[in-house]
Amino acid sequence: MAVINILSPHVADMIAAGEVVERPASVIKELMENAFDAGAKNITVELRGGGATYIRVTDDGCGMAPEDAGIAFLRHATSKLQDEKGLESIHTMGFRGEALAAISAVSHVELSTRRKGDESGTFVTLTAGEIQDMGPTGCPEGTTMVVKDLFYNTPARLKFLKSDRAEASACVQTALRCALGRPEVSVRLIRDGKEEFFSPGDGRQDSCVYTLLGRELASTLLQCKAADGGLRVSGFVSSPSAGRGNRAAQYFFCNGRFIRSALLQAAVEQAYKNTLLTGRFPACVLYLDMGYGSVDVNVHPAKTEVKFSFEKQVFDLVYNAVRLSLEQENRTAEVVPSASTRKLIEPKADFYRSMSAESFRANGYAVEKSRGAAASAPEPVRPAAPAFQSPGFRSPEPEKQTRMDLPPAAKAEPISVKGAETSPLFTRIPEKSVENSVQNVETTQIPSYRLLGEAMKTYIILEVGEELLLIDKHAAHERMNFDRLKALDRSIMSQTLLAPLPLHLGPGDAELLEQNGQLLQELGFEIEVFGEEDYVIRAVPADIDSGDALAAVEEIFEKLRSGKAPDAQSARDEILHTVACKAAIKAGWDTSDAERRRIAEAVLSGQVKYCPHGRPVSAVLSRRDLDKMFKRIV
Ligand code: ADP
Ligand code: MG
Repeated sequence: MAVINILSPHVADMIAAGEVVERPASVIKELMENAFDAGAKNITVELRGGGATYIRVTDDGCGMAPEDAGIAFLRHATSKLQDEKGLESIHTMGFRGEALAAISAVSHVELSTRRKGDESGTFVTLTAGEIQDMGPTGCPEGTTMVVKDLFYNTPARLKFLKSDRAEASACVQTALRCALGRPEVSVRLIRDGKEEFFSPGDGRQDSCVYTLLGRELASTLLQCKAADGGLRVSGFVSSPSAGRGNRAAQYFFCNGRFIRSALLQAAVEQAYKNTLLTGRFPACVLYLDMGYGSVDVNVHPAKTEVKFSFEKQVFDLVYNAVRLSLEQENRTAEVVPSASTRKLIEPKADFYRSMSAESFRANGYAVEKSRGAAASAPEPVRPAAPAFQSPGFRSPEPEKQTRMDLPPAAKAEPISVKGAETSPLFTRIPEKSVENSVQNVETTQIPSYRLLGEAMKTYIILEVGEELLLIDKHAAHERMNFDRLKALDRSIMSQTLLAPLPLHLGPGDAELLEQNGQLLQELGFEIEVFGEEDYVIRAVPADIDSGDALAAVEEIFEKLRSGKAPDAQSARDEILHTVACKAAIKAGWDTSDAERRRIAEAVLSGQVKYCPHGRPVSAVLSRRDLDKMFKRIV
């Protein structure tokens, strides 16, 4: 064993730097947080390359006194914490006093700073944590910190940095999160001389989110707000039809600090249950505010994880707040028809609005360059699916917004019509199946409408005030079935099949059947063992046509196998999805006016908005859309 050495403070700082400063993005985070703590109203962040060669953060905060400017770089030098009591209620972003020490240990730093009202400022230059030069200087009020050549003296760390592009994008992402957490501070980010983003700092969450995350995402967001004693949540969650392929657009802030939290993520995602397509994730920007004593921010080196004292309350508050916003979006019948029906497809509307002329044409519409060109414009070709699309949805500045690409969500979720290929043997359904599904519609809440008919045996067409409402009859009926079945507090009525259907399952499926046998029975299925891997289906829910029985059971096993149903509740929901879908009227089927009306009224009442998989059930064409389509207005 070698002799024990006490490491010099310099080596200790370099080791500590490894924890606080992982990459250029960490420098940006620490410097921005210092600027927030200094009460800055405006912050400019500049980076070059991937940020390792050059980062500059300028703020108009309180600045530092000449005697503090040098001390700030010492380890454990902080103006934000006096003693251990303060640790229990941290109200600043920083408190450990190690960021500047850690950063300066592994880079060249130039600081210039001036307090408000001071005659002159102070500059300090450091290399590897040692002050090289220091003195008075002329500079604006506030603080500018330049960090150059990060990790120049720790080649091992330098080697671990990714490409400039990857590091720069991490820097931008980090700065964006910091900025998003502080709507009251204006943040400008400049990368290689080009402005990457700018937030107005007007204190409004909506303008902050809009400018930082972009119109496309912002337009899918619903407001969300709730409070429980000292606990408050506010912000935005995405409409269920705007589900995303991953969780990258989920932002959580606690007292202005960006945090990662499995608890909050679960609270949000559970609130979307049965409205979002499996494998899709909601977007959200949620700001939690609570007493500083109710949250421990000292549990993670980068402070991105926190510990709440009242986890259950936090979970419930967020869950309920999100539920409420999703429900309010649904309660369309309370508003005037035109607004309500428009609201039904707000997210889709944005996708239509954002369609370029090219994509519009690709969808089957002739696009005229001007009135004069009308004569030579090609005839409208027969639209491919979807059959009807609104050319330009109302928006604050629609003209400017027509050049964007289709958002990925819209591309990824074509409105697929299940069962269009169903054999004609089953083309009639008993009317009661629609009737059953709409028991709860209060006709008083329904705006007056005119049933115009049905297109392509798929889309019910209504005139509601000044709008045309198109309803996907299968998707709407599926949702109605799902809600009805879910609300049942007794077993689902079962029908015994005249001839039991043979069913072949895989090796692991016997166990699945065993686990879910009781549930399947409650939901109207009777499945019996017949051999090694052979079974028979004796009964299925009464709503399902016997011709669909086998497909339904196979689909259910598919879901159970894929782990889509990890617990009893989700297994139940997944099975109900299948039953609801199979029991629904299908595209291609004949539907009577009475059935159409029942579906229409369920949609108009606001009860039915998304199918259980999260696809929208309706779309709107307004007079304005039509007028624009026919160039009555431009
Ligand atoms: P901490 O933020 O944990 O206190 P830092 O090492 O990040 O530790 O900063 C040390 C101290 O330097 C701070 O407590 C603060 O007093 C001062 N300081 C750092 N950055 C700024 C700034 N932009 N404006 C004013 N003071 C600053
Ligand atoms: Mg700090």
